[in-house]
Amino acid sequence: MKTQQVKSWQVADSASLYGIDGWGQKNFSISSAGEVTVTIPFDTGDVAIPIVDIIQAARDRDHELPLLLRIENLLDARVSEINETFQQAIEHAGYKAEYRGVFPVKVNQQCSVIEEISRFGTDFGHGLEAGSKAELLLCLANLNDNGLLICNGSKDQNFIDLGLWANRLGHQCFFVIESPSELPLIIARSQKLGIKPLIGLRIKISSKVGGLWTETSGDRSSFGLSTAQLIATVDQLRQAKMLDCLQLLHCHLGSQIPDIEEIKVAVREAARFYADLATENVPLKYLDLGGGLAVDYIGNQSLHSHSPNYNLADYCRCLVETIKETLAPHNIDHPTIVTESGRATVAHTSILLFEILNVVRYEANDLPEDCPEHCHPLVTRQYQLYQQAEVISPSEGYVEALTNRDKIRELFRSGVINLRERAMAENLFLAIAQTIAKKLDQLEKIPLPLDSLKQSLADIYYGNFSVFQSLPDTWAIGQMFPVMPVHRLNECPDRNATISDLTCDCDGKLDRFVLAGGESKTLPLHSLKAEEDYILGAFLMGAYQETMGDLHNLFGYTNVISIRINKEGGFDVTKEQSGDTISEVLSILEYNPTLFYKGFRDKVELAVKKKKINVKERQQILNHFSAQLNGQTYFNV
Ligand SMILES: *Cc1c(COP(=O)(O)O)cnc(C)c1O
Repeated sequence: MKTQQVKSWQVADSASLYGIDGWGQKNFSISSAGEVTVTIPFDTGDVAIPIVDIIQAARDRDHELPLLLRIENLLDARVSEINETFQQAIEHAGYKAEYRGVFPVKVNQQCSVIEEISRFGTDFGHGLEAGSKAELLLCLANLNDNGLLICNGSKDQNFIDLGLWANRLGHQCFFVIESPSELPLIIARSQKLGIKPLIGLRIKISSKVGGLWTETSGDRSSFGLSTAQLIATVDQLRQAKMLDCLQLLHCHLGSQIPDIEEIKVAVREAARFYADLATENVPLKYLDLGGGLAVDYIGNQSLHSHSPNYNLADYCRCLVETIKETLAPHNIDHPTIVTESGRATVAHTSILLFEILNVVRYEANDLPEDCPEHCHPLVTRQYQLYQQAEVISPSEGYVEALTNRDKIRELFRSGVINLRERAMAENLFLAIAQTIAKKLDQLEKIPLPLDSLKQSLADIYYGNFSVFQSLPDTWAIGQMFPVMPVHRLNECPDRNATISDLTCDCDGKLDRFVLAGGESKTLPLHSLKAEEDYILGAFLMGAYQETMGDLHNLFGYTNVISIRINKEGGFDVTKEQSGDTISEVLSILEYNPTLFYKGFRDKVELAVKKKKINVKERQQILNHFSAQLNGQTYFNV
């Protein structure tokens, strides 16, 4: 029965199990060889590259796993898709102004990402958004000539001076005022430097949105001006004869907004602000609706915090049509629509790839052929249950075995049962539980006591990566990313597992997974094969993960490569960056690697003096220490 099942397993079964056609959006699929491929459409036809080929190319360049892979084509595709879909919605609605996107740098500040968005975005006038002084510097060095530069966040005098100079250089740099105290400084610096600022006002939208970031919206949001502050700020600008500088109205409701209806309500409110200010002769030109465009991490538009009930086309249409309708009763020009989509721009471009180092199975081994003599009666009873496990009632049998196990543990604690007897009893319990778990698939409804049985028996697959460094949001806010093997998908996955990372932290794990059937606490995986890597990919992780990650247990940045797939059917490695060495990580923690090495050398020299080691051994130890100091923080497999 089982072998037959394995034989008939098709690549299509893997595709529907992991839901790759949903969240993969045609960018990711599975080849007939059972390998995940990245597919890029060209006018000459699609080019599909297996991820394992890219891993090999990285390894040939000495970049081992764990590896962060960036696919430039996917970044370009998202930038053009966002711009073109807005353009279509504008044409379709007969909207009388244009769309201008900006990329919020905080979502992925990495050099290769920013350089590529700026380069590729030139034709669309796609700009950048900065939320701090460091981000502003980065924008000034990278921004193309056509893009807007939107400055949110708190601004000190030096920040403001930089932004003003940017205007002098020909950029359109907007200061978005988040709190009333910012305006006097902007006015003062502008007068001092003799440069006119471009000003935007951030409004607070009173309607709240759902999802994981709901606190960004509503009256208590820490960002934006209340209506009273807004009016006061407009009046201040009028008094200072700088009303002509006020050209942009801004709002941002939070990230990953799951429900399009809530977006619509908020956009209508923002457009009402716009209409009334414009009617008061404020010379507004731009309506900036911030971020929030969600990524479908599950791929079935299920109105879940991970799966919005809309796609990009719905979003663009919603914004364009809602603004148009809301402004219709007022005789004012349509504003240029700005959005600051970060997540939706970069999520797809990055994949974390890591190998499984070993597996712990919750399975019985070395079970006795007969019930051992002279056992405690409870152990004997456990043995009987084990023998009858195939035929007993699943829930009653399981509850009895569980009770026996706990009593046996108690007897061990009080010294009645010895360690070997306990070990055998625990093995028997596992065997009973495994047999019952196998029968669950045949039941129509899983009885309550067996609710989490499968999960409690799942294997633990240990991956060569750190959740805290590479997928911090899975730990911090319960974010899920699609995770699946990148090969062997023509084989039936025969195990159920959760994934643990390399850190010595019980939170360093993945135990919520995206499957086509919905959310799952375990992930179907394949048994490891001797002498063969087993490699998993975490997909759609290009947004927010890289700089939010930390050095927990001193695991640093992984190796990174960027590739560009070409229409000839191959790909080019466009950028590569080695991961942090141990020495680099230690430097961040105030250690001086040179002194550090010297300290260790003195210790080893002393050992020579005390005749614990000889000079040759000393040199071996020092060479090894030094090589590890300059090596990377992850496992060398
Ligand atoms: C974080 C942020 C964004 C990006 O939001 P996404 O949902 O990732 O698109 C945009 N604008 C502002 C002001 C932000 O703080």
